[in-house]
Amino acid sequence: MSSVMTAREIGGVAVPEVPTQLFIGGEWRDAANDATFDVVAPAYEQHLATVAAAGAEDVDAAVRAARAQSDGGAWAQLTPADRGLLLFRLADLIERDIELLATLEGFDVGRPAYEPRLVDLPNVVDVFRHFAGWADKIEGRWITPLPFFGQQRQAYTIREPVGVVGAITAWNAPTLIAAWKLAPALAAGNTLVLKPAEDAPLSTLHLAKLIEEAGFPAGVVNVIPGLGATAGAALVAHPGVDKVSFTGSPEVGREVGIQAARDFKRVTLELGGKSPQIILADADPAAVVPGVAIGLWANQGEVCAAGTRILVARERYDDVVAGLADAARAVSLGDPFDAGTTMGALINARQLDRVTGYIAQGREQGAELVAGGERPERPGYFVQPTIFAGGDADIGIARDEIFGPVGLVRSFDDVDDAIAQANDTRYGLAAYVWTRDISKAHQVAARVRAGSVWINGGAPPDPRTPWGGMRSSGVGRELGWAGIEANTEEKTVTLTL
Ligand code: NAD
Repeated sequence: MSSVMTAREIGGVAVPEVPTQLFIGGEWRDAANDATFDVVAPAYEQHLATVAAAGAEDVDAAVRAARAQSDGGAWAQLTPADRGLLLFRLADLIERDIELLATLEGFDVGRPAYEPRLVDLPNVVDVFRHFAGWADKIEGRWITPLPFFGQQRQAYTIREPVGVVGAITAWNAPTLIAAWKLAPALAAGNTLVLKPAEDAPLSTLHLAKLIEEAGFPAGVVNVIPGLGATAGAALVAHPGVDKVSFTGSPEVGREVGIQAARDFKRVTLELGGKSPQIILADADPAAVVPGVAIGLWANQGEVCAAGTRILVARERYDDVVAGLADAARAVSLGDPFDAGTTMGALINARQLDRVTGYIAQGREQGAELVAGGERPERPGYFVQPTIFAGGDADIGIARDEIFGPVGLVRSFDDVDDAIAQANDTRYGLAAYVWTRDISKAHQVAARVRAGSVWINGGAPPDPRTPWGGMRSSGVGRELGWAGIEANTEEKTVTLTL
């Protein structure tokens, strides 16, 4: 198998060359059993790349390479400040290659390329710079214990790297999710084996190339594309992995958590959501609808924090339903690289079936379809942004994460009713509040069960703020100081004076 994709065009746009092998111990290699898998460009339904598929033997080699660096290798000898310099260098290289990475995401995720170019990738650069800054500022604490049989004592703590982190990512925002795993783990001195999602591994493979170019010692970061049931499961079960950091569905996350618990591995789970957007009575529908719509269907709604349950004060309900229907009709579905495109394709045929299945179910179960719901006549896994209104609170489209551009608008009577409906879910990743009343905004933020609350406007998580979910949306936090805590063990040293 060639190590890079052959140069060619799809839809008149050149497909960037990118490695298609495993990156283990600083070397690019095929899978031990020569297995591969195919990556499809979802907006064109065309073959995009054939990529090496890691098996258990490759996972073992990658974990050993990471282990060697963690256990006294060149990486373990580096000063924290030097680790920070490598992360700054990597951030510069990502910034240099934003256009290339955005093009890769346009091809393998099927999203409009301007989204990663303007949103995700500048954020990725920021994530690496933020954690580069942390590398030499990870401090312990000074604590005074009680005297023991009359002898005075002092204690201090040291934050040490956890060791080898096994990271598994989802396909929807692949470079950003990889950055959330890599940057805090590396800043804290860990090594990684990273398995990108099989649907969209290309930008992560380019990231591996940049890690090589930045000069990280060989084996500090190993990238092993492969399938979940083989490479992913082998990574989670490997005894040489100290911590598992997983982003994906609650169903797989549960299995990952159970397996990790068998060996008492540390674990962070970033899972799905069914996030509410609460529009209070004082909000001006015309002013908030554009933001509500973006929170609902940016990245085709394939966003863990998508605000898909729109809860509106009864007196604003008709205006918000009409406004969202207009916004849905104004969306331009199409080629990720066309200037006018505002929404791309779903990731694959399975996801298209899932989304169209939920749309059919919403109709059958009595919600009113007010906009969208159809597939355009063109190749690619496209579906129109879709707005439902009303219906029973227990129907599938009100309860389940659809992971597509499908929103349900329901009304509430007062703030208590809004909170009750918002919290009536198994998830707890994000919530959005739209209001001009600052004290009500904070009351709602305090009462809603969600890891992140956005008042008057959502955005991708800022690396300075913790990110993660309650309930079925996950375990633990990434980003900010919480990301450092999650990637370190705190050791207590007690001194008898
Ligand atoms: P998924 O659970 O199917 O796959 C996620 C990853 O797990 C992939 O890399 C896959 O190969 C791997 N995997 C699959 N089976 C495995 C196994 N048995 N053992 C180990 N690894 C395995 O999820 P997906 O379809 O890729 O992503 C969509 C889900 O991810 C949605 O629920 C979404 O909300 C969630 N998500 C969460 C966040 C967050 O930050 N909370 C971000 C993005 C996506």
